[in-house]
Order: sequence, then structure tokens, then C-alpha cells
Amino acid sequence: MANLTGKTAVVTGSTSGIGLAYARAFASAGANIVINGMGVPADIEKERAAIESDFKVKAIHSPADMTKPAEIAEMIALGEKTYGSVDILVNNAGIQFVSPIEEFPIEKWDAIIAINLSSAFHGIRAAVPGMKKRGWGRIINTASAHSLVASPFKSAYVSAKHGIAGLTKTVALEVATHKITCNCISPGYVWTPLVEKQIPDTMKARGLTKEQVIHDVLLAAQPTKEFVTSEQVAALALFLCGDDAAQITGTNLSIDGGWTAE
Ligand code: NAD
Repeated sequence: MANLTGKTAVVTGSTSGIGLAYARAFASAGANIVINGMGVPADIEKERAAIESDFKVKAIHSPADMTKPAEIAEMIALGEKTYGSVDILVNNAGIQFVSPIEEFPIEKWDAIIAINLSSAFHGIRAAVPGMKKRGWGRIINTASAHSLVASPFKSAYVSAKHGIAGLTKTVALEVATHKITCNCISPGYVWTPLVEKQIPDTMKARGLTKEQVIHDVLLAAQPTKEFVTSEQVAALALFLCGDDAAQITGTNLSIDGGWTAE
């Protein structure tokens, strides 16, 4: 396992789901953590404190809103000021909205592009100078099977995720000689609040029951017929932070139960 003692990881959208699993995995390897995301303050504090007590590292919460470029830069600066460096940046915050394109609300398109794509640009832009100065860095973007294939009614999400796959490759090439790697991870369906919340809209858009959405829409895409777990995604991210992954860069790593093999 990667030893991340003395390193700092910033994980966007880590008050829930996959992001929280990343934060806990990096903490288990010794990294200090900046968690980020929305939620009930008492719940966020509980997760933050649990990271500190479970893994004997430091953890702080940045309330940066991923739609606000200045707040994203402040989040990176907060990590650097608090711990002296930001060595690992995981761009993970994301939202979903499901609707036929002709009814797709314009503000939902703008929010998805901002949170799921542009926030990664702003975070990377702010973190790369420090990584270059120290000669080490790991940038991991949570993409999705939807960075490789599309599904109907998810125009903004699929566009943002295809975009992040391109951003990943571009950044990897730019920082390749600085011992900084940049990769994206593309999960299939992971049972998190993001997936649970889209079920009612998918029921409406496709005229299906909840059971039908789970089995005929979500798991239909996954040959294994099982959800991916957040912990499996986090374990892959942790591997990317180790020395064994130093030559893995610019890739899009699928963890999707065979979805994109079809
Ligand atoms: P989730 O809803 O459990 O977590 C999303 C996180 O993003 C939360 O911490 C939330 O507070 C945060 N967030 C949302 N808007 C924000 C904003 N404006 N500013 C700051 N933080 C914000 O979802 P998840 O399933 O864990 O998704 C995490 C990432 O994984 C997303 O990028 C998602 O697209 C991707 N993904 C998820 C799945 C899946 O099946 N769950 C599959 C592929 C990819």
C-alpha cells in the first residue's frame, strides 16, 4: 500500500459517497486530509472527526462551492497553508440531472458543467504550481463510464464526463516531466446518494418502477449485475498514489463491472 505519511490530499465532494471513501483511504495511508462538500454541518463534523480519530491524521473541512472558481483556489490555498503542501488532488464533486434534452433546465446544464468539469480545471490550475515546486504530485479525476459511452437523458453529465477525460490527458502531458501524474477513474454504478437520487427522475423519464430502474436500467449496463463499491474505487485511487503507479498517467481507468467492454 502507498505510504502517504507527510502528504496532504484534497478531495472535492468528500462529505458523501465515493469522495468520503477516497478521503478515508488516503487517511488510512497516513495523509492529512482536506475534505470538501455540502451537507448538514454536524454530519460533516462527525465525518471529519472520525477521519482524525480512526487514522491518527489531521483533517479539515473546506466549504468551497465547486461552482465558484475563487473558492476553489481558496480551498487549495487552505490545504497549503494548513499542512504546507497539497500533494494529492482528487476532483470528485459531482451532481446529476436526468431529463430529455428539450426539457433540460438551462441552469442544471450550467451547474453540472461547473461542478463536474470546470471545478477540476480550477483545482488543477491552483494546485499544479506547488506540485511542480516540490517535484511530486498525484491528480485523480472521478470521471465515469459516461466518459466513454452515453445514456439517454443525461446530456450534461455525459458531456462533462467526456470533457474530464480530455482534461486528464492534457494535464498528464503538461506535467509529465515533473513526477506528477494525472489520471481519471471511471466507475460504473456505485450505490451512493447520487445514484439513489436519480431513481425518481428516471422512473418518470422512462415510465418505470423503482425495481425496474435498478435492474433494467442501472444494473442492465453492468455484466457483473453488481454495484461497484465506493471502497473499491478508493482502493484504485490509493494505488495510483503509490510509487508502483509512477508511470501510469493520462489514463482513464474503468471500474465498471464490464459495462464498457460491451
Ligand atoms: P454523492 O452525491 O454521494 O457525493 C457528491 C459530493 O459532491 C458530495 O460530497 C456533495 O456535497 C458534493 N458536491 C455537490 N455539489 C457541490 C458543490 N457545488 N460544491 C462542493 N461540493 C459539492 O455522489 P457520488 O456518487 O459519491 O459521486 C462522486 C463522483 O463520482 C461524482 O463526480 C460522480 O459523477 C462520480 N460517479 C459516480 C457514480 C455512481 O454510480 N455513484 C458513477 C460514476 C461516477
